[in-house]
Amino acid sequence: MEQKPYDVLLFDLDDTLFNHSHCFKKAVKEIVIDHKNLKHLDGEEFFTSFLKNNNKLWNEFQTKELSFQEFSLKRLMMTFNQFFVSISHEEIRRINENYHENYLRNIVPDPEMNKFLKQLEDTYQMGIVTNGTSYNAYKKVRRLGLDKYFKKGHIIISEEAGHSKPHPQIFNYVLERFKINPEKMLFIGDNYYTDICGAHSAGMDTLWVNHFDVDPPLEYVPTYYVKNIFDVRKVIRII
Ligand SMILES: [Mg+2]
Repeated sequence: MEQKPYDVLLFDLDDTLFNHSHCFKKAVKEIVIDHKNLKHLDGEEFFTSFLKNNNKLWNEFQTKELSFQEFSLKRLMMTFNQFFVSISHEEIRRINENYHENYLRNIVPDPEMNKFLKQLEDTYQMGIVTNGTSYNAYKKVRRLGLDKYFKKGHIIISEEAGHSKPHPQIFNYVLERFKINPEKMLFIGDNYYTDICGAHSAGMDTLWVNHFDVDPPLEYVPTYYVKNIFDVRKVIRII
């Protein structure tokens, strides 16, 4: 395969640089295990309902109709209501705090990922572009030990940029930070819409980490795609 010279590799964070879905699911199921009034519930069912509510409300958080805290509490409240479990606001707040602590605790460094990034850092400038809150994003980066490879100024978070992927403004913000032509950048991410289409619209090449090996849902075909992030080494130059 032709290997184009890039100066910058940009990475999505969740489900690209670590297995967010696993940590998220585990933390949601821990709510059921930890709570005395939920012991009769099936963890899988609770998770499915929580995920649906999460997805329903995500857009309201992205468009700032809900703060992250409101979004977080509302998705829990909706899920408890669906299982007819009555619960006080105070208790929802406490469960929410535990959930966030559990989620972060589930995030642990991956030696293979660390080795992979170490190989790349000599050849490329590297950045992270993630949707979410600054508080969570920096915590995740630190827990994963990724702050060794990504400078603070090269971690771009939607909350700080004022817009979420795939909005062009967050990609403009990235270009301002790096002051490098988008053609010299490769965006690596698992989400076809937010990462791949967003970066493509900004003029970057794209590498889709296509975990489920599906066809591109829209017309745009990513520059590269791999099933496993470590296969990135097969398509880019490493000194
Ligand atoms: Mg992702």
